[in-house]
Amino acid sequence: MLPVVALVGRPNVGKSTLFNVLTRSRDALVADMPGVTRDRHYGVCRSGERPFVVVDTGGLSGVEDALDVLTARQVRLAIDEAQIIVFVVDARDGLLPQDHVILGELRRSGKPIIAAVNKTDGLDLATAMAEFSVFGIHATLPLSAAHNRGTDDLIATVLPLLPPEESDALDEGESGSIRVAIVGRPNAGKSTLINRLLGEDRLIVSDVAGTTRDPIRVPLERDGKRYTLIDTAGVRRKARVEEALEKFSVIKTLQSMAAAQVVVVLIDARENLADQDLTLIGAAMDEGRALVIAVNKWDGMDAYQRDQCQRALERRLVFVDWAKTVFISALHGSGLRELMRAVVRAHAAATRELGSSELTKALEKAYESYQPPLVRGHAPKLRFAHPGGSNPPTIVIHGSRTKHIAPAYRRYLEGFFRKRFKLEGTPIRIDFRDGE
Ligand code: GDP
Ligand code: GDP
Repeated sequence: MLPVVALVGRPNVGKSTLFNVLTRSRDALVADMPGVTRDRHYGVCRSGERPFVVVDTGGLSGVEDALDVLTARQVRLAIDEAQIIVFVVDARDGLLPQDHVILGELRRSGKPIIAAVNKTDGLDLATAMAEFSVFGIHATLPLSAAHNRGTDDLIATVLPLLPPEESDALDEGESGSIRVAIVGRPNAGKSTLINRLLGEDRLIVSDVAGTTRDPIRVPLERDGKRYTLIDTAGVRRKARVEEALEKFSVIKTLQSMAAAQVVVVLIDARENLADQDLTLIGAAMDEGRALVIAVNKWDGMDAYQRDQCQRALERRLVFVDWAKTVFISALHGSGLRELMRAVVRAHAAATRELGSSELTKALEKAYESYQPPLVRGHAPKLRFAHPGGSNPPTIVIHGSRTKHIAPAYRRYLEGFFRKRFKLEGTPIRIDFRDGE
């Protein structure tokens, strides 16, 4: 399971700058809950040897406020969910009373705390750090998030503090099954879909399992295929309204994507395609997962509405035109066979074994029909290719001057390989290597 690191500190100390550097994110996943004013941002840091979820808890304000906000449920939750806390302070402001208040609260959590002293750029380090050496917490590190200095040290300090990695050993019966995560915004219909797939009697079982904190794994057999559903929704009966809101967890969503082989992003046909839907799709792609887009609540839409919805999807989902879109009604159970067929196909594509000679042949063909543009009079050369792993299919290409290959040419190659090897439903990674 992906471990979780929370960034906490006063406003303006540089938490979101640090968050962006760590997650290299274009767009963070935001907890989308009505009534939540301070957004929490979530992303995955992949710069170190082991990926982890980063949560930017948003700002904690002044002295009195700091206590208020700290007792606010969402910041508590973030700290609760985290295994490690990075306490961000501002070297230019020095150590303020508010920092002490926040630190006191953090200490009460009993979790390892690392202090990141930010904005040390242009300052004398020894002087800047002296003031913060009183902390007596796990480690105090200088940082300049804005200049991406000190972040490698921070990651190197975080990693050994993480709980040991669980072995990849699958639960009994899981091998040979396709691991599927069903994700989506609150009310997209995840619970309805999972219950529909499982059938009523299984609900009881998962109800009990729903008390655990980790995403739940539920076996499913359908049309002779075996799956393991990785549930983020909590297949719990919604006893109360608050529970419905609370059960949505971005962290669980990220964790279940990481644990899955295929991600089904569930979209509500009756809502406009939201930025968060696109962000979820982006997060699945970043994770390298095979992807199926399921448009739910297709029942009761008239021809005009369906047409409008389909057009909007076509327009906004061009960047994942390789992913299959299926239209379903979780409530009535329609489209589910097509959905699971798309899951099986995406999984097959994602795990397809490709050989070096067929890859090299394809590369030669692609290179012949369209060569990368010259860089200062020299063309990047691409010589041969070999497989570099699956799920997602990774293609290693050896050549020269590959640093100069533009994103557009990379996309051209991806498209070429995708078509040639019918890699529908999965992202493709291309690794360029020079020399050799
Ligand atoms: P947050 O409120 O804690 O999330 O803080 P932000 O990340 O929004 O940063 C607040 C301000 O500090 C912005 O103007 C940033 O550009 C600036 N800032 C962040 N990190 C650094 C840094 O390492 N050095 C300097 N000089 N400024 C920084
Ligand atoms: P979750 O938050 O993603 O788990 O969403 P739920 O499964 O709890 O569904 C949210 C609401 O949408 C509930 O009222 C469901 O009955 C309704 N719903 C789910 N799927 C469908 C569907 O296919 N059609 C219609 N009309 N309503 C649906």
